[in-house]
Amino acid sequence: MDLSSQEKKAPTLVIDSHVHIGAIGKDYQIVTAQDLQDSMDNAGIAISIVVSDDFDSGDDWQGVSSDEAIKQCANNPRLKVVGNFSLRREAAQQEHEICQQIETKAICGVKFYPGYENYFPVDQRPQTIYKLCATLRVPVIFHTGFLQEGTLGNQEQTHPRNIEALAEQHPDLKIIMAHFGNPWVQETAKAIAKHNNLYVDLSGFFTEYKTVLSTELVEFQGAMTTFANIAGGFSKCLFGTDWPLYSQKEYLAAVKTLPMNEREQKLVFWENATLLFDR
Ligand SMILES: [Zn+2]
Repeated sequence: MDLSSQEKKAPTLVIDSHVHIGAIGKDYQIVTAQDLQDSMDNAGIAISIVVSDDFDSGDDWQGVSSDEAIKQCANNPRLKVVGNFSLRREAAQQEHEICQQIETKAICGVKFYPGYENYFPVDQRPQTIYKLCATLRVPVIFHTGFLQEGTLGNQEQTHPRNIEALAEQHPDLKIIMAHFGNPWVQETAKAIAKHNNLYVDLSGFFTEYKTVLSTELVEFQGAMTTFANIAGGFSKCLFGTDWPLYSQKEYLAAVKTLPMNEREQKLVFWENATLLFDR
C-alpha cells in the first residue's frame, strides 16, 4: 500500500456541530457531558458543539440552560457550548448575559427556536441579539423544518424562506440552518446557493432513538444528493447529529456515504465548524 492510499484511509478529524445534554435521552433519561464524551470516543469524534435549549417548547422537553452547559463543559477542550435565545426570559437581562458569554468565550454561537416558541425569525424581539452576533462574528443557529407535535408555534415559522429573509436583513450575520430545512430540502438548497452567509447542519434526519435502517439511509442519500445538485455541492454543510436523539456513530457512518469530494469532506467534518465557531 503506498502513502497516498494510506492518506485516503486516514480517518478525517470530525466535529459534531449539533448535540444536546439534559433530560432528552430516550424516555427523558438524563444525558450528561460525560455520556457525550463516551459516545464521542465510541464514534471517533474529536469535538462536539453542545447546544443549550432551555426554551419554552410547550411540552416535556428538558434540555439545559447555557449556564448548566457551560458548567458541564468547563475546561474541556473537546466540548464547546452554544447559548440560546428564549422569549420566556427577560429581554435586557438575556441580552446582557449572552453578550458577556460571547465576550468571555463561554459560548461560541446562539441558537433560536422560532417554531417552538411561536415567532418568525425576522421578529423584532431577537434583533438586538442578531446585531450583537453579527458585530462579534458569532454564528446563529436556527431550528428549521419538521416541528414536534404540541409545540407552541407552527410549521410555517420553520420554513427556509424565513431564514432567507433574515439573511437578507443581516448580510453580515452567519446563519446555520439546523436539520437542512428537512422536508424543504430543495428550498433550503436554493437559499444556500443564493446567500453567502447561510450554512446547513446535516443533523436530525433519521428516526429518533432508533437504529438507522437501510431504507432510511437510501432516503437520506437521495435527499442530500438533490440538495447538493441544487446548492452546488456540500461545501456549506456541517456534520451534526442531534445526539442523543441519534447515535453519533451511526450518523457519522451515514454522512460518510454521501458523494463528497475530498475538499468537501474536510469542510463538512471540520473546517466549516472551525471557521464559524472559532473566533
Ligand atoms: Zn437539536
